[in-house]
Amino acid sequence: MQLNTSTFKNSYFDLGQGFYQSIKPTPVHKPELIIFNRALSEELGLSDTALDLSAGAAVFAGNRIPKGAEPLAMAYSGHQFGHFNPNLGDGRAILLGQILSPDGGSFDIHLKGTGRTAFSRDGDGRAALGPVLREYLASEAMARLGVPTTRALAAVTTGEEVTRERLLPGGIITRVAASFIRIGTFEYFLARSDIEGITRLADYVIDNLYPELQQIENPYLALLDAVIEGQAALITQWMQLGFIHGVMNTDNMSVACETIDYGPCAFMDHYAHNRVYSSIDHHGRYAYNNQPNIGLWNLSRFAECLLHLIDKDQDTAIEIAKDSLEGFINAYQDNWLSAMRAKLGLTAEFDQDRALIEALFEVMAGSNADFTLTFYQLSLLDVDGSDDNTVLALFDDAESMAQWLERWRGRLRQESSADEERKALMRAVNPIYIPRNHLIEAAIRAAEDDGDFSVFHALHQVLQQPYDVQPGKETYMQPPRPHEVVRQTFCGT
Ligand code: AMP
Ligand code: MG
Repeated sequence: MQLNTSTFKNSYFDLGQGFYQSIKPTPVHKPELIIFNRALSEELGLSDTALDLSAGAAVFAGNRIPKGAEPLAMAYSGHQFGHFNPNLGDGRAILLGQILSPDGGSFDIHLKGTGRTAFSRDGDGRAALGPVLREYLASEAMARLGVPTTRALAAVTTGEEVTRERLLPGGIITRVAASFIRIGTFEYFLARSDIEGITRLADYVIDNLYPELQQIENPYLALLDAVIEGQAALITQWMQLGFIHGVMNTDNMSVACETIDYGPCAFMDHYAHNRVYSSIDHHGRYAYNNQPNIGLWNLSRFAECLLHLIDKDQDTAIEIAKDSLEGFINAYQDNWLSAMRAKLGLTAEFDQDRALIEALFEVMAGSNADFTLTFYQLSLLDVDGSDDNTVLALFDDAESMAQWLERWRGRLRQESSADEERKALMRAVNPIYIPRNHLIEAAIRAAEDDGDFSVFHALHQVLQQPYDVQPGKETYMQPPRPHEVVRQTFCGT
């Protein structure tokens, strides 16, 4: 495939040397295309050009640089598990540049797994095939679930091996995002006391991601507020789906407010408030129920980067920023309540709704109930007398759930909507199919161990329509059987 070269450029390059290292991907031995995202390519306006799949693999492996692209590795810092690391950056990824879409939008095109850069530290700059497949499945599922996210345009095998705990086949993923600028990108300049750099970066972000803020009197404060609002909305959607990002370091938090950097992420099967999957998250810093707190913590780091731009007087700037950060708490609380009301089919608003929702989560936690199936099964129930056995079977303590169902039905009777109408609304926000850990694991095992990509493709296909019943695909709905349970997920490094 040839990328539509006429519209390729790299505006990040114009920011100047201090922002990146100019570097080409290190070519790989024998790239082969695993998957190409035709639907996304059409959205981006890439489809007009002739599709030549062998050239496509070369492009998506970084062996061939499309005309107009200006490959570079972005510099950034980041707080990793609360500890500041001034020297992160794209250690295994390359930003090729942007493509303009037909509707006037601009998208960053980024290859991950492309070899060493100035930011690689001890790493080899490569990605193993498993994490590439994992990111492809999870990010495309997120997009179909309706959650802002970086997208996956293609994945290739490299024909080379990478050394991890053992030798593994190598892979490269092509990612698409509104931007790959992170909170950590801002921190990079703050750590160097480079206020001019922060200003240029902030202007770039405003011009490219939030152009409507250009006219506002204090555009940098408006930028802080926009990112606060965007992250409050994003994290709510994660919570609504039982998604655990797993490594919410500030370098993995996008100022475009898209889900970014799918490492040890996971969709929860059996519910626990503080569920953790990541093998490196020993203290549960990034546990399910701690994600909003961490969002706020990360946004506080972002606010610190903008203080000099918000007001010349730093005490004043701090007061202003504090007010904005408080806005996160309110926005998140409101979003969460609306999102959970929607999951339970509540369109009216009553004071006791929060307690009702929290009570459900308590029962789920006490009963080892599957997050996704609980809400899906609720969306099939009638207010009066339907068969509750299927939902009750998800709960170890069926009696407690039966009591909660009584309470919920009592609340539903205060609604004016009819059953069918309400159920349709619930079904639109309660998915049937999510990229369950054991399914991703099975897809990776088949690909890595046997070179068999059929399991990956079949799973990817099901995840394209997460809210629709797909006859014959029932196994994809199910939680893992005891021997299939994935207890830990790992970074792709
Ligand atoms: P992550 O935890 O995947 O978001 O990565 C954190 C940092 O480690 C980033 O600066 C990455 O570029 C870098 N990194 C991760 N894996 C590798 C690798 N295999 N080679 C070089 N750098 C890496
Ligand atoms: Mg990262």
